[in-house]
Amino acid sequence: MATITVHDKNFEPYLSVEEIHSRIRFIAHQLNTDYIDKKPLFIAILNGSFIFAADLFKELTIDAEICFIKLASYKGSKSTGHVITAIGLDMDLFGRDVVILEDIVDTGKTLHEFLPQLRHQQPSSLKIVALLHKPDATVFPMHIDYLGFSIPDKFVVGYGLDYDGLGRNIPEIYRLTE
Ligand code: 5GP
Repeated sequence: MATITVHDKNFEPYLSVEEIHSRIRFIAHQLNTDYIDKKPLFIAILNGSFIFAADLFKELTIDAEICFIKLASYKGSKSTGHVITAIGLDMDLFGRDVVILEDIVDTGKTLHEFLPQLRHQQPSSLKIVALLHKPDATVFPMHIDYLGFSIPDKFVVGYGLDYDGLGRNIPEIYRLTE
């Protein structure tokens, strides 16, 4: 595979379709085992996770529900600071086994701010699935229960992830060249 250009930047091949799909099958197998007697609710965080969520969900053989939400952040009052709201979260999470599906955990800020809101609804369990994690970029450490790939702190596109709106439809994952 050759280098590609998205907008003004060049990207080199990083994770192939085969690597991504085999890792997804592995994670799905773990979820199928861990949630065998449960009916988990998967919450996929848009936009970046839509392809990952669809491919993972197809591999599940357990009873499971899925919903898609979008996170919007705005500046709250001085006391509340930065506020994150979930658009489209219309499910009752009380007593549910909730599994978050995230495309990539970078600094960890998004989930760090969003998870307390979910916990407030008292799900019986709350786990995180992330396709990608950049440990070197971590500012808000958190435990990722099911991880696809741990990657260096380099910007990536493809497989649902964009660079300024483009690149989501690339089947593989590419990373920024030096
Ligand atoms: P965090 O709050 O963990 O810093 O950032 C999470 C979000 O930042 C991800 O859901 C994603 O939208 C965006 N992001 C972080 N790193 C990358 C990257 O390398 N490529 C792309 N396309 N988005 C990223």
